[in-house]
Amino acid sequence: MPELPEVETTLRGVSPHLVGRAIREVIVRHKGLRWPVPDTIHELEGQRVLDGTRRGKYLLFKTKPGTLMIHLGMSGALRVSDPEMPWRKHDHVALQLDSGKQLRFHDPRRFGCVLLIDDPATHPLLAELGPEPLSDNFDAAYLQHELKGKTVNIKQAIMDSHLVVGVGNIYACEALFMAGISPKKPAGKVTRAALEKLVSAIKKVLAASIEMGGTTLRDFLRENGEPGYFKQTLRVYDREGEPCRVCGAAVKRIVQSNRSTFFCAKCQR
Ligand SMILES: [Zn+2]
Repeated sequence: MPELPEVETTLRGVSPHLVGRAIREVIVRHKGLRWPVPDTIHELEGQRVLDGTRRGKYLLFKTKPGTLMIHLGMSGALRVSDPEMPWRKHDHVALQLDSGKQLRFHDPRRFGCVLLIDDPATHPLLAELGPEPLSDNFDAAYLQHELKGKTVNIKQAIMDSHLVVGVGNIYACEALFMAGISPKKPAGKVTRAALEKLVSAIKKVLAASIEMGGTTLRDFLRENGEPGYFKQTLRVYDREGEPCRVCGAAVKRIVQSNRSTFFCAKCQR
């Protein structure tokens, strides 16, 4: 599943091909995505893309009549193509640009979306989102305030997009390990000092992944192959039974809210 770093890399990969360009035509081959592609999407035709940004895992491309909002869902990808390239199965929507290139949205599982919205600030899918993890708004003071008295475990808390966006399962496991916090600890009981470590670990693990994604930017112009998941050295994730890289104890796996959690019971308290 594309996580925040992959979405950020997608933004950086496609923006130079899109921002400042006019959209000549919107080609909808299958409108049955997570939410149907609206007929209003054709209002983008003749419009120039003014800006490309990201909020959580939503890509936002601003035009005069509205904002093109794209979510990659479970399996979505964007690719800049030449129009004569054969359509691939699961290429659902394409923007024909005045550069001659096409931006194609590919999504085998169709959990993604391509929508035209009015105002990102008030859109229901975006309005409730917590701060961006890499922004200055996300700090230990904020976390402490939000988590006060919360009995939910800290891992589940940081994966909630109302608290902070973009902390997926891998990043939650890795950041909690780096911060030395047990994933089972009630969120309200994590000390301020530990929250400081946690915030810095979350920023570090996401930034490292985005940096790694930078090397895959050329893939957005490649016709075959998906931009892969970023291979980073994982400290605990998917390492059940293997020795902790710090203390050598076996990494444990438990299930929390139907997701696997990997951690070191010795290093994380
Ligand atoms: Zn350990």
